[in-house]
Amino acid sequence: MKKFWLAACAAGALTAAPAQALEIRVDPAPLYVFDLAPDRGGVDLVLHNILVVNDEARTQELTGLRVDLLKEGEIVATARVGAAALLRRAQRVTTYEQAGLLRAMDFQFHLSRNLHEGEKLSSDATLEPGEVLLNTGFYISASILPDTARVVAESAGGDIGVASIPVSRYQSPNHYRAPVDGRWLVFASGDAEHHHRWVVSSEYALDLATLGPELRSHTGDGTRLAQYRTFGLPIRAAADGVVVAVRNDVIDNEGMLRRPDESYESYEERVAEGQQAILLSGSGFEAAAGNYVLIEHAGGEHSLYAHMRRGSARVRVGQRVSTGDQVGEAGSSGNSTEPHLHFQVIDGPDLNRARGLPVVFEGLRDDWIAMGGRHLRAGDVMERE
Ligand SMILES: [Zn+2]
Repeated sequence: MKKFWLAACAAGALTAAPAQALEIRVDPAPLYVFDLAPDRGGVDLVLHNILVVNDEARTQELTGLRVDLLKEGEIVATARVGAAALLRRAQRVTTYEQAGLLRAMDFQFHLSRNLHEGEKLSSDATLEPGEVLLNTGFYISASILPDTARVVAESAGGDIGVASIPVSRYQSPNHYRAPVDGRWLVFASGDAEHHHRWVVSSEYALDLATLGPELRSHTGDGTRLAQYRTFGLPIRAAADGVVVAVRNDVIDNEGMLRRPDESYESYEERVAEGQQAILLSGSGFEAAAGNYVLIEHAGGEHSLYAHMRRGSARVRVGQRVSTGDQVGEAGSSGNSTEPHLHFQVIDGPDLNRARGLPVVFEGLRDDWIAMGGRHLRAGDVMERE
C-alpha cells in the first residue's frame, strides 16, 4: 500500500507561502474516483483520514480545512469544512478514543501507522505543539476527472499547511467478471449514500442479492434463512488467482432477519447492537466478514467473498482458481442482516489494513442500461452475458 505523507508545499502552490507550515498526512492515498455520471464525466471521492500535525513549537489555531481538485493546474472543484465542523469531527474521534475503540477501529483510522511517536490527537481545532487534528470522511465531487487533490489547512492568518495527493481513475491489471449466476440486484455499492463508501476497506464493495418475481428477496414471512432466494446460491471466483484465506465455521444469522411484526426502528436498534458486539470482539473487519474466501490476483489485488453459508466453502488455501470456479454458497454469516454476497476488491491480504479498490466487471449484459466499463451503483441489476 502506498502512502503519501507529504509535508508542505511545492513552491508556488500557495499564493502567500508561510515561512513554516504544518504537516498534512492523507491516508489512504493516492485517491481514486467513483463514477457519478460516467457519460457526463461526474466523479466523486472521499478523503478518509486527513491528519493535520502541529510539528511547530507554538500553538496553531485552524479555522478550516479545504480540498481543491485540480486538473493540469486549474482548480475544477473546491470543498471546505469550517471550524465548527472540524471541532465536531475532532470531538467524535476523542469520543472513540475515550471509549477505547481506536484500536478496534484501526482498519478505518490507521492511527497505528499515522500517529507517530510523541504525537497525540487533539479534541478541538486548536493544536498545541505535537497535537494532531484527525478529520475523517472528507467528501468532494467534480464534473471532470481531476489529477490532483490539494489539501489545505487554513488559519486566520492564511493557509498554514498543504499537501498534494494524486487522483486517478483506478486501472486494474485484472479482468473481473460478476461472481454470481443469473440476475442480481446491487443494493449497496460505493455510492456515497451507502455505508460501504465510508469504510476504507470496503469503500467500493458491492452487496448483491437475487429477487423473486414480485421483487421480494424471500418467500413466506422471511423469518427463516431457507426462505431467501439468495441463500445457498453459488458464488464464483471473479478472476483467476490463488486462494489465500478461507473461513467456513461461522453460523448463519437467522436471528438477524427482520421479524414481520418488528418496526424498522426497533429492528435497526437490534442490528446496531449486533454490529457493536462484532466491533468489540476485537478482530475488526474479519469478524464482520463471517465465512469468506479471499483470492489473490495479479498486482497484489485480492477479491473477498463475504457472509458465505457455513460449511459451503469449496476451495482451500493455496488452491489456484479460474474465473467462474465455484468458491462457496451465498449465506448470512458475520455482519449480515439477510442472505447476500458482499464482494470487494482490496489492495492486500490483510482485511484490517487493506483499502478497497474501485474495479469494474467485464461482460455484463446491457439490456436496460449500459453497464460496460463503469462502476456499478445501488439499484443496478446485473447479469453476465
Ligand atoms: Zn456489504
